Amino acid sequence: MKIGIIGAGLGGLFSAAILSKKHDVTIYEKLPYIGGRFTNLDYKGYQLTTGALHMIPHGANGFFGQLVQESNCGAKIINSNPDGLFRINNTNYGFEELKKLVSFKDKLKALKMLADLKLGTVDKDISFGTFLEGISIAEKVGNSFSGWALSLSSYETPMDEVMAISKYYHKFGGPGIPLGGCKGIIDALEQVILQNGGIIHKNYIVDKVYIPENYQEKCTINDENEFDIIISNASPIITQKISNLNFINKNKMPIPSKGIKVSIGSRNKLITHNGVVFTTEAERLNGFNQPSNVDKSLAKEGHNLIMAHATQIKNNINDEIDLVLEDIDNLFSEEFTGHKKEDYKILAIQTYRDECPVNHASNGTDLKPVVNDKLYLVGDGVKGKGGIEVEGVSLSVIEVLNHINK
Ligand code: FAD
Repeated sequence: MKIGIIGAGLGGLFSAAILSKKHDVTIYEKLPYIGGRFTNLDYKGYQLTTGALHMIPHGANGFFGQLVQESNCGAKIINSNPDGLFRINNTNYGFEELKKLVSFKDKLKALKMLADLKLGTVDKDISFGTFLEGISIAEKVGNSFSGWALSLSSYETPMDEVMAISKYYHKFGGPGIPLGGCKGIIDALEQVILQNGGIIHKNYIVDKVYIPENYQEKCTINDENEFDIIISNASPIITQKISNLNFINKNKMPIPSKGIKVSIGSRNKLITHNGVVFTTEAERLNGFNQPSNVDKSLAKEGHNLIMAHATQIKNNINDEIDLVLEDIDNLFSEEFTGHKKEDYKILAIQTYRDECPVNHASNGTDLKPVVNDKLYLVGDGVKGKGGIEVEGVSLSVIEVLNHINK
């Protein structure tokens, strides 16, 4: 079968690496580089990124890990231990230790909450924020988690999604960091695609996609390339705009999630482990990690790379950035860390929204990956339920592969 793929983000590359084992695959990428929002940007000896925080939500064992295995690309993911700690009063607590901070009355409420979550006996139509109401620590912890993992406030996060995430967390565990960071994965996938005879065109904008109704007729990309099927890694909205099909229900448009990422270089280790620190009491910041604890090559020699993430809550982006920087000043102040301010440096502040968001569809607003037997969508506009970021991208690829191989 001849398969045309629009976009060389993770969704397009995972699909291509696996499908190129049996099919003729051609990818068209509009940018001069591949990897989309999941690759490295070399900056002054640091490996910053185009988007992601060098982190895979369920580490080596989740849906992403399964696709790494299935593609035989050989990329390595190191699971984090601990998964995450919660910063409260300038002390880091593990999830279990949080119980110590809760009053007896609230402890009973919290235990019931956890039991309900595990048994699935929660009202699925409420938000995560509503579910957490009444226990102050739970509200803060939940909000920092949804901000870090989904770039949504807890009140924007549907409980239905949280329940599915919780199920996958119990099944697969927490996050991990790939060797070489995001680009470690992208390079490995590119190699497999090229070895399998796949073709990758860069600097090629797809602006016209034709999907025929008649089964015998071929699909075309920019009127000049014919394929049996097309997989689009462009967002669902862009895909609809450039295609002859109308497949998005106007009342169910995907809503992008917005975020701010700050990359920091530091002489000192600001965290000693390779998981996340959730900043539960910060005004805007949701958390930070230090991926160079796993792979030193991600930071300049003798330094550490720290990545901090915040959900964008209000529209004025400059005010939002100021709040994030204030949070960083407080968290990394000499008073709390014992290190001088000159010892760390803000390397980059990147903002994500509109056509380059954190996710093309915030969790709960995703579309379905299979449009029909000839047009498929992959990526973070069509994540499966409970799929955190690239785990959701992976779920979309798995669904598309299952449909094509039927
Ligand atoms: P993309 O990466 O956007 O790829 C789509 C590709 O299609 C792009 O290369 C684009 O140029 C190309 N394209 C689009 N239109 C056309 C066209 N018309 N013609 C040709 N090519 C086209 N996820 C995690 O799991 N862990 C994290 O730590 C994490 N942190 C994040 C932090 C931030 C600040 C951001 C922004 C995102 C983060 N994410 C994280 C999310 C993750 O980066 C994305 O979900 C994922 O990279 C999306 O992959 P994709 O394949 O859906 O899309």
